[in-house]
Amino acid sequence: MAHSGIDTAAEKRRMLTRHLAGRDIRDSRVLQAMQTVPREAFVGALYFADAYIDAPLPIDEGQTISQPYIVAKMVELAEIDHHARVLEVGAGSGYGAAILGQIAAQVFSIERIAHLATNARQVIQKLGYTNITIVHGDGTQGLMEHAPFDAIIVTAATSFVPDALKEQLVFGGSIIVPVGDDDFQQLIKLTRMDVDSFERTTHGAVRFVPLLRECEG
Ligand code: SAM
Repeated sequence: MAHSGIDTAAEKRRMLTRHLAGRDIRDSRVLQAMQTVPREAFVGALYFADAYIDAPLPIDEGQTISQPYIVAKMVELAEIDHHARVLEVGAGSGYGAAILGQIAAQVFSIERIAHLATNARQVIQKLGYTNITIVHGDGTQGLMEHAPFDAIIVTAATSFVPDALKEQLVFGGSIIVPVGDDDFQQLIKLTRMDVDSFERTTHGAVRFVPLLRECEG
């Protein structure tokens, strides 16, 4: 799509070859999802021209749409397939949920800021994605009525992983979550081995907005 002189198709190709496949993203389902979903639909008009730079961008309410490489990395780490039920904590713009929805059977994404949840829901509806549900609420509680999940992706940083999320994971399922404080965060993959036994691997330094524990408006 060309808009204001920007060739978004060419920009998207560049993002895929240089910043995703050109780095370490190998899962063809993830690359295909990143190819399919129009990131420009999830950023404000002000940032349309920047939709395919590999960087987080501001959205409303002082929040951000995550960097494409990090979105791809988190989804790849989650190892989901077309049978998967996935929970995302931190819907933000809805972009991450849209990527997950290309691969998984069913995606639930929780956002604590009502205005962002409404916007994300509208964009997803406009794009015709029918397997994604955006919920306004506190994601630290998970979404008990739709649990268990094959994977949970948390897109805000926390010093500890909430028990509710661990409990809502199937055995063998994983939580992908940035763990740390404002100064230093690491991307963690926690795989549930048994009732209360988890295997933990780390996947590099990241920077996310904080996971907060109460809802707004
Ligand atoms: N996945 C998003 C996207 O694709 O645009 C990026 C999300 S942004 C980095 C993190 C989001 O987490 C913010 O929108 C923030 O409001 C939300 N958030 C923070 N704490 C939360 C909580 N307890 N429950 C739900 N959402 C939360």
